[in-house]
Amino acid sequence: MKIFRSMVIFCLATAVVLPAQEKSSAPALFPFTVIRAGTLIDGKSDAPRRDQVIVIRGNRIDGVSDAAAAKIPAGATVIDLSHSTVLPGLIDSHTHIFLQGEDPAQGGYDINILKYPLAFRAARATVSVRRALEQGFTTLRDVETEGAGYGDVGIKMAIEEGYIPGPRLFVSTRAISSTGGYMLEDYAPELDMPKGAQLIDGPVEARKAAREQLDHGADWIKVYMTHRSWVGKDGELVSQPTLTVEELHAIVDETHSWGKKVACHAYGGIGLHRALDGGCDSIEHGLDLDDAAIAQMLRQGTWLCPTLSAYYHDWAPADTPQGQRDRKRVAAHEISFPKALHAGVKIVFGTDMGGISWDEPIAQEFPRMVELGMSPMEAIKSATSRPAEMLDMQGQLGVIAPGAYADIVAATGDPLRDIKVLQSVQFVMKDGKVFKR
Ligand SMILES: [Zn+2]
Repeated sequence: MKIFRSMVIFCLATAVVLPAQEKSSAPALFPFTVIRAGTLIDGKSDAPRRDQVIVIRGNRIDGVSDAAAAKIPAGATVIDLSHSTVLPGLIDSHTHIFLQGEDPAQGGYDINILKYPLAFRAARATVSVRRALEQGFTTLRDVETEGAGYGDVGIKMAIEEGYIPGPRLFVSTRAISSTGGYMLEDYAPELDMPKGAQLIDGPVEARKAAREQLDHGADWIKVYMTHRSWVGKDGELVSQPTLTVEELHAIVDETHSWGKKVACHAYGGIGLHRALDGGCDSIEHGLDLDDAAIAQMLRQGTWLCPTLSAYYHDWAPADTPQGQRDRKRVAAHEISFPKALHAGVKIVFGTDMGGISWDEPIAQEFPRMVELGMSPMEAIKSATSRPAEMLDMQGQLGVIAPGAYADIVAATGDPLRDIKVLQSVQFVMKDGKVFKR
C-alpha cells in the first residue's frame, strides 16, 4: 500500500453455463466453445494475428488457428468477436481487495480496523473481486488484507467453490513488518492498537509468522521492507527501513522451502537493499531504484511491480511536508521506472487497487506505463504472460494457447494504438465460462 498524507493510507487493492449437447446418445462430457477473434493478441507473441479461431474445451483452450483453416467441432457454441481485439484474461499483481480507497477525510485507513465488522469488510471484498472480473482481470495477486486476517483465503474459497464471481486469487494473508513498521499508529502509547500487518522482531518471530501464514493458506508472503517516507535535507526521498536482512532471510528461507515466494514492499535506500540482499522475489513499488539495486535485480531475477498509478492520487498540499513527499515519490518513480525498463528488469503490471477506489478503472495503469516508455505490447505482456511466469503459471495463465485456462477478454479498438481501450473490455470469460458479454 502506499502512504497518503500524514496518516497514511495504504499501500496499500458466473457465468453462462455452456449448453451440454445432450440430444444424442453420447452426451459431450466437455462441451466445446469457439471464439472467432478479429485480432488476437495472445499475451506472448510480439505481433497480433488477424482472423483467428480459438477452440475451448471445458475450461481449457484446445486450439488456436487461422479462421480459414479452422475446424469447428460439431455442436460447439460460437462466440463472434470478429470485430474485436481478443486477449488473455488480465492479471493485476498488486491489489488489496479488503481496502476501498478510503477517503482520509472520512476516517481513512484506520476506520476499517477500528469500526468495521469483519463481515462488512468481507462483503465489500466480494464487490472488489466482482469489479475486477468485470474489467477483465481474471487473476489477482492480492498482497495482504490490511487487518482482515485470513479473509482473503475465505474470499478465494468462495470464488473457487462458485458462490461468488471473481478472479483467480493468489493471496498473501496478513503481511509481515516490524515494530514501528505499520499502522495503526499515532495513538496513545498506553493503548495496545491492532495492526494492519503481523509485526515481528527477530528472525525467530519472523520465521514463525511466515509459518503461520503459510499454514493458513498464504500463496505468497508479503513483507514491508520500508514504511514511512519523507523528503531528506538534500531533497532526496528517504524511506524508513523495517526488517533486518536476518529477519527477512528467515522469512524467505522458510517461504522458499514451502515452494512459495516473497513480495517485498520497498521504496528505496537501506530497506530496498536489505530486500534484495535477503532474497525477496518481487519488489513492490520500487520508487527509488539506484543503479546497484537495478544491477542486483537483474542478477537475481527479481521482479518489479511498480504500481505507478497509486502515487498520483490524494496528494497533500504542495507547501506541506507530506505534499512535498507525495510529489517527490512520483518524481523518483518517473526516473526509476524507465531506468529499470531499459535495463531489462522484469516488470509486472500492478495497481495497488484498494489504495485506489475499486470504482476507478484498473487498466489506468497501462497508460502510465506507456507514458513512461513501455511499448503497448510490453505493457500487455506485463499483465499477461509475465506475471504468469512470476506466479509459476507459465503456459496456463496469461496466454491464449493450447493447454492454457480459457481466461479470455475482448475490447473494441486497437490497444497497440491506444492502450486506453483496455479500460473498457466488453467480453470476459474465465475458466471457459462467459462472465460478461
Ligand atoms: Zn499495496
